[in-house]
Amino acid sequence: GDLDARVKVVTGDETGSLAQAINDLAADLKVYRDTRREFLANISHELRTPMTYLEGYTKILKENLYQSEAEKEQYLDIIQQESVRLNHLINDLFELSKMEEGKFSLNQEWIDLREVVENIHHKVSLKAKEKGVIFAFTIEEDVSLVFGDGLRMEQIFSNLLDNAIRYTDQGIISLNIKSLQPYEILIEIIDTGNGIPKEDLSYIFERFYRVEKSRSREHGGTGLGLAIVKQLVEIQGGTIQVFSELGKGTRFEIRFPVTSKKGNGGEEL
Ligand code: ADP
Repeated sequence: GDLDARVKVVTGDETGSLAQAINDLAADLKVYRDTRREFLANISHELRTPMTYLEGYTKILKENLYQSEAEKEQYLDIIQQESVRLNHLINDLFELSKMEEGKFSLNQEWIDLREVVENIHHKVSLKAKEKGVIFAFTIEEDVSLVFGDGLRMEQIFSNLLDNAIRYTDQGIISLNIKSLQPYEILIEIIDTGNGIPKEDLSYIFERFYRVEKSRSREHGGTGLGLAIVKQLVEIQGGTIQVFSELGKGTRFEIRFPVTSKKGNGGEEL
């Protein structure tokens, strides 16, 4: 009776699927180990590069191996840039590992994206102006509040807009916030920059993936920015996609669900 119902006879078919499941698990474990190994190798490489600069240029300065004051200044600048990069890299790594371990706390509340943008607008405009590109921002009237972490939202927007400025030499970068009634908010970050080759598009959210290594380095990039952005969007319940055309520009689309339509005169759903 009872026992018979619980003890299942393992048929040949089931042995097969059990073996298949074990094989799949072993394959997953291998992918996990390989990814981990690759990640550690990447970190070592990323840390070694600035360390090499720091060591080399400190030695030159210490042994007075420079020809002029101007040259000395130049070396000091490099040392400073590389220290900043190293610091940035360590912070980014720390953030990512916290997020991946789930040890990351969000201060979620009902936030107005208009305010989020107001907080970063000045900084972004300044950077855009320095680069000679235009920064345009639009938000639809009826965009409702989002349940999220305001500071993390600022970080998402800043990261994507910084990239947009970094990889655009002329034209416009824009941030548009729209309401896809009634359940979704769409945030677009669009630039008229150099774009991303098709073959690279599916990798750009991966840690340390860079299309142009030299350009990224030049700007103090760590190759972790988009990996962090993706995590930040996803832990707040959103999704992110990228569309790009080489030589024309890039568009990032972020979608957040609207679970309850509070504020802005709206009523609870
Ligand atoms: P990085 O610190 O190198 O900018 P990210 O993770 O922020 O690292 O971006 C990964 C790579 O994606 C960049 O190195 C760059 O090649 C590419 N990328 C990101 N944003 C843009 C953009 N708006 N236009 C063109 N390429 C971009």
